[in-house]
Amino acid sequence: MKVNNIFVSPHFRLAEFQCRCCGCVQLHPELLVKLEKLRDAWGSPLLVTSGFRCSRHNRSVNGAEASLHLLGQAADVVVLYDVQREFTELAEKMAFDQVIPYGKRNFVHLGVFGRDERVILPVRQHKWEMAVPLHGAAGT
Ligand SMILES: [Zn+2]
Ligand SMILES: [Zn+2]
Repeated sequence: MKVNNIFVSPHFRLAEFQCRCCGCVQLHPELLVKLEKLRDAWGSPLLVTSGFRCSRHNRSVNGAEASLHLLGQAADVVVLYDVQREFTELAEKMAFDQVIPYGKRNFVHLGVFGRDERVILPVRQHKWEMAVPLHGAAGT
């Protein structure tokens, strides 16, 4: 089974955000929550072409030195040129801090600064309990 191939929200798997060169991944909850909302509002799948980048990979794609991709706070998603205006307006409503359309390269960069306190991690707190051994080892 592939590592990171788990759903972290209704529409996204962690593996979609992992670094294209080494498979490392960091994913800020604010990015995930906003992407999920955007995906829902947009109504069709968002293909992530670049999520987290390690510093080596960021250099190899000539990413900005302080790129939010290095922090797991940005994702590039495929959006065809023709619908980018519509898409970026929607993304701005979802309060992304960076919404950068790349025109005929057919993708939009979305980033968050990670300071939006309205965003709550979409994972229910779970209280783990100690496993109880089926056969007690007492007395042996
Ligand atoms: Zn890498
Ligand atoms: Zn980007």
